[in-house]
Amino acid sequence: MKAIVFRRHGGPEALEAAELPDPQPGPGDVRIALRAAALNHLDIWVRIGLGATIPMPHVGGSDGAGVVDAVGPDVTSVSPGDAVMIAPGLSCGECPECLAGRESRCPSFRIHGFQTQGTYATHTVVPARNCLPVPPGMPFPEAASIPLVFLTAYHMLFTRGGLRPGETVFVPGAAGGVGIAAVQLAAAAGARVVAAAGGAEKTALARKLGAWEALDSSANKNIGDEVRHVTGGRGPDLVVDHVGGDFTPAAAAMCARGGRVVCCGATAGKQFAMPMRSLYVPEVSILGAYMGSRWELVEALRLVAHGKARPVVDRTFPLAHAADAQRRMDERRNLGKIVLAP
Ligand SMILES: [Zn+2]
Repeated sequence: MKAIVFRRHGGPEALEAAELPDPQPGPGDVRIALRAAALNHLDIWVRIGLGATIPMPHVGGSDGAGVVDAVGPDVTSVSPGDAVMIAPGLSCGECPECLAGRESRCPSFRIHGFQTQGTYATHTVVPARNCLPVPPGMPFPEAASIPLVFLTAYHMLFTRGGLRPGETVFVPGAAGGVGIAAVQLAAAAGARVVAAAGGAEKTALARKLGAWEALDSSANKNIGDEVRHVTGGRGPDLVVDHVGGDFTPAAAAMCARGGRVVCCGATAGKQFAMPMRSLYVPEVSILGAYMGSRWELVEALRLVAHGKARPVVDRTFPLAHAADAQRRMDERRNLGKIVLAP
């Protein structure tokens, strides 16, 4: 198969085209001939190196959609020819956490394309239970753009954040992957969404997707003050924090009393420091969220099927141009998901 690999951690220049043996599906596995792979910031972190041991040469990419072209022994749920998208969380399926539907807490939880060979390729192999049908009529680039970010946003808002109708949610980076999903899922749940994004085009997109207010984060104002201002001084009940670093204490400080900051990543910095008092006096919670479970993706897909949410595709690059695609994401020039087509 054709793939984009890296043989050492590094910048986008570490990505190179390679011809690899076709992966063979084992018991319970299926092979998918990919039609589209969507980029996530995770791909860049995996390329730079997160300290975890990963297969080398490495094929990155967690999100993909395509057509099943081979199935291993004992597969009954999908057949060759089925159009599927990949649920990127891999777990044992048998431990108490998996049985309770909390797969990302499974001791053997892994993410496709991080700890396994991923979707920057013409083919990939996943367990049959990680295949979900592509909604009828949905193009492959859109289908590939859904799983990781919609799953993450659903898990952050509802499962970890306990969002209730009428609450106010702040979503920074609202024109990025998790942001686009979070704005729509929160609005669909009856929350009032305050979004922030860099520039007029991105704030317009956030409004179109259901944000009640969209702040321009490139305007060089204190975003916490602005959020407090537009919420009448009260602050949001929940902050979707996919930013990390110094943003996290700022998010906690802008929250209403009893507010929750749900963190899923740390693109802006790996650590933060804050006065303890600013947590316990206003009873603000900081919660971690790591991907999510297949049932949450199924719930998010139900909202897509009902027209309450949709993926937004920025641009499709040929697979061979994966480095350019990653640069575009790294420089935050994208409006929605960047897709690779093999
Ligand atoms: Zn398990």
